[in-house]
Amino acid sequence: MSLLVVGTVAFDAIETPFGKTDKILGGAATYISLAASYFTKKMNLVSVVGEDFPQEHINMLQKHHVDTTGLQVLKDQKTFFWSGKYHNDMNSRDTITTELNVLENFNPVVPEAYQDCDFLMLGNLSPAVQKAVIKQLKKRPKLIVLDTMNFWMDIAMAELLETLKQVDVLTINDAEARQLSGEYSLVKAAQKILAMGPKYLIIKKGEHGALLFNKEQVFFAPALPLEDVFDPTGAGDSFAGGFIGYLAETEDISFENMKRAIIFGSATASFCVEKFGTENLIGLTQEQVDSRVQEFVDLVQFDIALV
Ligand code: AMP
Repeated sequence: MSLLVVGTVAFDAIETPFGKTDKILGGAATYISLAASYFTKKMNLVSVVGEDFPQEHINMLQKHHVDTTGLQVLKDQKTFFWSGKYHNDMNSRDTITTELNVLENFNPVVPEAYQDCDFLMLGNLSPAVQKAVIKQLKKRPKLIVLDTMNFWMDIAMAELLETLKQVDVLTINDAEARQLSGEYSLVKAAQKILAMGPKYLIIKKGEHGALLFNKEQVFFAPALPLEDVFDPTGAGDSFAGGFIGYLAETEDISFENMKRAIIFGSATASFCVEKFGTENLIGLTQEQVDSRVQEFVDLVQFDIALV
């Protein structure tokens, strides 16, 4: 089953209470693809970078089973740049800089060879670009997942609402769910958001886990209590990557299988935050992933005999 990943490929500069980085590899599509590569071995990428983007990063993505034919490299232009600073609790951050650069006039092109796409992951990017990708697909994918953030809600809410009508699963964090719905209660927020188009909603709550809603059911997955969290950047994208990578590999989009996919997503997110940037997602072994998933199973398993 082929998975198409769309989103930013970027340079990030990150500051956390544990340290600071210069421009390092980042971007929503980068984290998504790396995380998904531990579950599925065939991914196609649609994104854009500038001439300043090192070939070694592209080679690294290819080694993680990512076809980069759809990655545009624009001459004389600069790659998208984002910088952020985390507060001491590591749960919240301030965006310091968002330089759109190549994203400003990005016109995504889905290569012909990507048309046979069953799973579409629309990572964080302008909602107009996300919609343009859906429009270019001649056959509707089996599942369309969309991730977005407050930045796009602030500057492109109308386009976001249009795009949401066409997707199956929306993944956002709790603050974004409140912003999108105007409701403080996440249960009420979920009801309102599910009426906007998506059939499923995932609300990510950082170290407090994630909630999966459809109109009738709700499921909760915890986050693993970790001794050291160095850098939460990309946690949401790694979560989305593990989630869709597992669904694409198993080809089962039932609510029951989505519950499993959320655990795999939470496992990949837990690796992401243990080091700066993409560092920890680059060289994981299957054994590491499997044993992390087992830790999740052990964390939530209990027996109760009700009388
Ligand atoms: P997350 O921590 O999961 O929200 O993802 C962080 C990644 O999102 C970073 O690598 C950034 O390059 C990327 N990013 C930050 N702002 C935006 C934006 N406005 N649109 C798309 N990607 C972004």
